Amino acid sequence: MRVLFREVEVAAERVDVLVDGSRVAAIGRRLQPEDEQGLEVVDGRGGALLPGLHDHHVHLLALAAAQASVDCGPRVRDKPGLASALRAAEGAWVRGTGYHQSVAGDLDRQVRDELVPDRLVRVQHRSGALWMLNSRALEVVSGVLDDSPDVERDQDGKPTGRLWRYDARLRPALPQVDLDLARVGQTLAEYGITGVTDATPDLDAGALSLLGGALARGDLPQSVMLLGAPAGAGLAPRLSAGPVKLLLRDHDLPTFRDLSETIATVHGTGRRVAVHCVSSESLVLTLAALEQVGALQGDRIEHAAVVPPGIASWVAALGLAVVTQPDLLRSRGEQYLHEVDPAERPFLYPFRSLLSAGVRVAASSDAPYGDLDPWQAMRTAARRTSAAGETLEGEETVSPATALAGYLSAATDPGGTPRRIKSGAAADLCLLHVPLAEALREPAAELVRLTSIAGRLHHSP
Ligand SMILES: [Zn+2]
Repeated sequence: MRVLFREVEVAAERVDVLVDGSRVAAIGRRLQPEDEQGLEVVDGRGGALLPGLHDHHVHLLALAAAQASVDCGPRVRDKPGLASALRAAEGAWVRGTGYHQSVAGDLDRQVRDELVPDRLVRVQHRSGALWMLNSRALEVVSGVLDDSPDVERDQDGKPTGRLWRYDARLRPALPQVDLDLARVGQTLAEYGITGVTDATPDLDAGALSLLGGALARGDLPQSVMLLGAPAGAGLAPRLSAGPVKLLLRDHDLPTFRDLSETIATVHGTGRRVAVHCVSSESLVLTLAALEQVGALQGDRIEHAAVVPPGIASWVAALGLAVVTQPDLLRSRGEQYLHEVDPAERPFLYPFRSLLSAGVRVAASSDAPYGDLDPWQAMRTAARRTSAAGETLEGEETVSPATALAGYLSAATDPGGTPRRIKSGAAADLCLLHVPLAEALREPAAELVRLTSIAGRLHHSP
């Protein structure tokens, strides 16, 4: 298939762009393709044609599951609201996501049993780290509960139904659900996203085959880099193995020695590390371990949610990239304003100070735990305001253009030089209704007109 984009804005110039198959074939003023047969012409009307956006940190399967789950987030106001939302769900198993204490407090097992007594219920905390099961559900999954501290137990040693970081271990005890990755692929395309990095750690064979199948069928048209690809696994086309995600648990941090050894082992296999750091303790521990082992080009920090003064230059000296989520300041802003130590708030999800220190930084979504919309992330990055409009402290705003640049950087180089549209490059493109300068004044998902992924067009509504 060939597509001719007429009168589009590329790097501030009005040009035509010819796509042949999955590649950009030519760029120039008033291109006259010799053969017009089978040529689809898109009149750009001066709208910007950008390289397709890459979301550097998402969780695809969780996103598909969240789209098919009961939203237990702050949109549900209180306990009766939560009960009726859960009870309205269909199927033997009821799956809730996005729960936060502001809805109905700490959901202990008694409350969970009251909410839905007669069905199997599991509710996920908004952090994604914790599952809370009611008694019936707990009984059904008893076969997969291990002796680790991830299974919370009461004084008598009985499981309480609270399971930490248990997704992969829980899966064998749950019914196979058909995850609709086509809907995820469609949503991503509507935002102009042509590639993603899946940040889920330790993907098992089942997860890999779900993703591989969705890519092979074209349900998920995007290219996907996996931080959770197992060592030595053969991967389906358009799936690639990225750095290895290391999840540091703040309530149970590894020792300096253990972390250093883990990083050295990963480096020894030729891969890089992507270390989840959401506290200053875990960040400092990680930086020290990377310094000990020797950081490699491509090692990255996920979140860097708190970066105290003076630490940014250390991140820069080690050559690490930071994959941040500015929009959490909006979607979780109220929570941060209540729960985060005011002394730490100016250093929460920093952006500008990292760039000033010379760190490569890329914005991302962490969807479904954050909002998937990259254009919303660009707006929040420029404002640092919560959903209720309160501004969070810190001299950390960046322009929408700066936030966009991170989305344009390559999967393998988050925060690096933005990709460019050029002859021979992959036809992963995002066409806007308006010129770029206009889009950046008030970035919005509605400005995406269509997305080309490997030369196939996906029109936005
Ligand atoms: Zn994540």
